[in-house]
Amino acid sequence: MGKATSSGTAPISPDFRVAIIGAGIAGINLAIGLQARNVPFTLYERAPEFREIGAGIGFSPNSERAMALLDPEILASFKRIANPNGEDYFQWNDGHVTDELIFKLFVGKDGFQGCRRSDVLEEWAKLVDPSSIQFNKQIDTLSDPASAGDPVEMRFTDGTSATASVVIGCDGIRSRVRQLLLPADAPAAHPHYTAKYCFRALVPMAAAVAAVGTYKAGTRFMFLGPRAHIITYPIGGNTVLNVLAVLSDDAPWPDTAKHTAPGSKSEVVRAFAGWHPTVTKIADLLPDEMDKWAIFDMAEHPVPTYVRGRVGLAGDAAHATGPHLGAGGGLGIEDAAVLAPLLEAVARGGGGGVERALGAYNEVRYQRTQDIVQWTRQACDYFHWTDPEVGSDFEKFGKAITPKFHAIWEYDINVSVEKALAQYKASV
Ligand SMILES: Cc1cc2nc3c(=O)[nH]c(=O)nc-3n(C[C@H](O)[C@H](O)[C@H](O)COP(=O)(O)OP(=O)(O)OC[C@H]3O[C@@H](n4cnc5c(N)ncnc54)[C@H](O)[C@@H]3O)c2cc1C
Repeated sequence: MGKATSSGTAPISPDFRVAIIGAGIAGINLAIGLQARNVPFTLYERAPEFREIGAGIGFSPNSERAMALLDPEILASFKRIANPNGEDYFQWNDGHVTDELIFKLFVGKDGFQGCRRSDVLEEWAKLVDPSSIQFNKQIDTLSDPASAGDPVEMRFTDGTSATASVVIGCDGIRSRVRQLLLPADAPAAHPHYTAKYCFRALVPMAAAVAAVGTYKAGTRFMFLGPRAHIITYPIGGNTVLNVLAVLSDDAPWPDTAKHTAPGSKSEVVRAFAGWHPTVTKIADLLPDEMDKWAIFDMAEHPVPTYVRGRVGLAGDAAHATGPHLGAGGGLGIEDAAVLAPLLEAVARGGGGGVERALGAYNEVRYQRTQDIVQWTRQACDYFHWTDPEVGSDFEKFGKAITPKFHAIWEYDINVSVEKALAQYKASV
């Protein structure tokens, strides 16, 4: 599936070192991609170990192609723990009144399979040389990324420091690296609440089957309705049903410094009261106590660029987006798939020209990722029947959603890598 993109066989510059900040989906994929290209790096993670919440995630076909390009083992590890699709379709039902199919979209053979987040992170973590990882390292400050010639100096909150030829901030939606690249009062320094929050739970499959039947529990469904939707899909070898319930809410999020707030099943049950019994039965499956998660993004205040000097941003740090198109994680993997060969080219070219390589990265990644941040907002309006054009018209829904998913899934990562490498090499 992947295509080897060679940057030649010149030796890697011995002084060249990449610092990756954050060992989430973007950071770990970049680490594995650099390792596969023999580019020296250190992965700094603030947590004491690799960790992810237990909820589910699915990876789109474009994400899979980017994984394969970084290192075929990334894709193979994901596929080892990915849950088979009951059907290779996204299926949207009218969850409010009829529970009938509104629209379905083919995801490709074995496409967009789901898994537990913690399972895939664990598999990927096994691929990284442990000596390249430093845990308990929370980035605090950076030296001026634009100062010529010198390595970038990083200071961590434990008082230690380190240097690197280039720093890639993969530190997520509340990225410290992003803050350090922007003026302190820049609105893009922080993500913003989208007036949606969600509940995430893993329900034992036996209970799910008892409630909605084998067919409904065995494949991916999205139940749509006024100002809310529920997504369900099986993971963990069909042992659990991943449930994501998303609610529109115009009230401000109580504490914008925090992503979660204590919640309860009764809130979900209340929100879906009067909906079709399939949906109310799913709500009934949830645990009594559960956090609610605010959905933040950067749609209203995008960063003007993902790079400054010898520092770049990737993944949610660059373009945090809501979950509604299932695209955010995949975009971080695509970022990594462009960065890894570019940084290899720098390393094999004597270590100079980092700024130009990052410039080429920004050039090929900015519009693609920004478009998807905006489309994701729109998609949730379609799901909640609040889009002024689409409303609850199911025919319009299919016409509106299809081109967005196709544009996400059909992206040719090889073209972007070749374009970025050509731009970088032309500038050297
Ligand atoms: C409900 C929900 C469902 C989703 N479903 C999907 C889906 O199906 N498919 C999909 O592709 N995407 C999905 N997404 C989006 C996806 O989860 C994110 O885009 C993805 O997790 C972002 O990865 P990341 O590596 O950029 O950031 P993160 O996963 O947030 O990782 C950032 C890492 O950086 C570390 N860190 C933070 N600050 C510092 C610091 N100062 N110093 C050092 N380390 C630091 C953190 O500890 C963390 O390990 C979903 C999102 C949500 C909320």
